[in-house]
Amino acid sequence: MNGIVYLVGAGPGAPDLLTLRAAKLLEAADVVFHDALVHPETLALAARAEKIAVGKRCGKHSTAQRFINKRLVDAAQRHAVVVRLKGGDPMLFGRAQEEIAALEAAGVRYEIVPGVTAALAAAAELATSLTQRGVARSVAFVTPRVGEGEPPSDWAQSLAAADAGAIYMGAGQAAQIAAALIAAGKPPTTPIAIVESASLAESRRVFATLALLPHLGSRFSGPAVILIGPQYRARAQTVRDSATEEDSARTTPPRALNSTD
Ligand code: SAH
Repeated sequence: MNGIVYLVGAGPGAPDLLTLRAAKLLEAADVVFHDALVHPETLALAARAEKIAVGKRCGKHSTAQRFINKRLVDAAQRHAVVVRLKGGDPMLFGRAQEEIAALEAAGVRYEIVPGVTAALAAAAELATSLTQRGVARSVAFVTPRVGEGEPPSDWAQSLAAADAGAIYMGAGQAAQIAAALIAAGKPPTTPIAIVESASLAESRRVFATLALLPHLGSRFSGPAVILIGPQYRARAQTVRDSATEEDSARTTPPRALNSTD
């Protein structure tokens, strides 16, 4: 068998944010290797496929990347249509390049199908544009997470140099993130927004400042993206939906910290 492997973006969570191309490929798939966060309704589209979970959630058991690479290559030798379904977009913090390299090395054909990345779903959730004329003309997509044996990343410098930023895989390291960004030159009063489970019914959002970020990170158990930029200041003052009010009430900072808000 000389199968083809599709690296497919599943989008941020809501099953109807999948592209039509992704849906068609799932319907045609013989086998689907999927991340942990993929919605069951999305997986159900792959009615005839064998479905294999290979994803990882922070701090939980993860299937070694090299093993995933090998399984993709092996599957292409046994099946016509192999789908590797990844959360959001495969080409952003998705380790797609390692899978592409392995497929190329083995001479396996592959294609990439983009998906809606978490930061864009979060921007939609907040009804606040990532870019805004006169306010935010650059957005840095960063993660503080570096794998074992990888060189250190200067993510904080990159974000500090941009008008706005989206931090992936950061909610568990809120204190370090705040300290690194303040050290890199972002004022402690810089507005932030945290969006958890963007695009899903259980989505939550909180608005605060960089100085208050260390107090907020531990409140999120689902996937969360931290957005930073001047555009969230106005939003924090004007949004009046119940989720925001409830969340802001629950995150009222200790009094000593109010001065930085
Ligand atoms: N390739 C994915 C990102 C993978 S890294 C994408 O393009 O979105 C995993 C991180 O993405 C999580 O730690 C979190 O920061 C973010 N994330 C994924 N889904 C999310 C969602 N529905 N809401 C908020 N953040 C999300």
